[in-house]
Amino acid sequence: MQRILIATSNSGKLRDFAGAAAAQGIEIASIPHFSSLPHVAEDGATFEANACKKAEFYSRFVPGELVLADDSGLEVDALGGAPGVHSARYAADDPSSANADDAANNARLLQEMKNTRPDRRTARFVCVIAAARDGQTLQIFRGQAEGTILDRPRGSGGFGYDPLFYFPAIQKTFAELEPEEKARYSHRGAAFRLFLNWMKEFRDH
Ligand code: IMP
Repeated sequence: MQRILIATSNSGKLRDFAGAAAAQGIEIASIPHFSSLPHVAEDGATFEANACKKAEFYSRFVPGELVLADDSGLEVDALGGAPGVHSARYAADDPSSANADDAANNARLLQEMKNTRPDRRTARFVCVIAAARDGQTLQIFRGQAEGTILDRPRGSGGFGYDPLFYFPAIQKTFAELEPEEKARYSHRGAAFRLFLNWMKEFRDH
């Protein structure tokens, strides 16, 4: 079975990737000893910049291996695209520093949107995956999922903003889906499928 290394310690992201890879006979693993490696500041202005920065940096620790890193977040139209690249640390006092926990980020989102009408609550999840080897980005892949933000959480699966992100096509939030089902509809699943198509070509040349 082919193994793909992911530069993340986020168990929610790992579960999503495993869900997307399961049907393809691909095993997903975190980079060995990832939590003891130095931390990279995610200070880029775009998802692309941060994904490349993470993938290039961590690929240097596993010479010759293909390493994936994802940078992702939620863009809410009524908030001018916020929290965007700051999604992981939306509720933190200093948004350039530590990540906040999911419950605090969701509470901040509900607070910011408390006066937003139901028909103005459109949003999208964005995921950019960078594939790098030996410190160089080889390719990037972008996936999006369009939905709306509920006024209270629904469901207990997933992570991050999943309980507030309602996906109209199946009338469920992402927190109400099993990992394989989330992969079918999610931004991360879409970006990962683009990566898999590219990898088939890459392997054959
Ligand atoms: P980063 O990619 O590590 O900067 O973190 C992305 C942040 O965006 C996460 O901590 C979540 O708050 C949010 N996010 C990204 N993808 C998802 C998802 O699939 N579900 C829910 N929240 C997500």
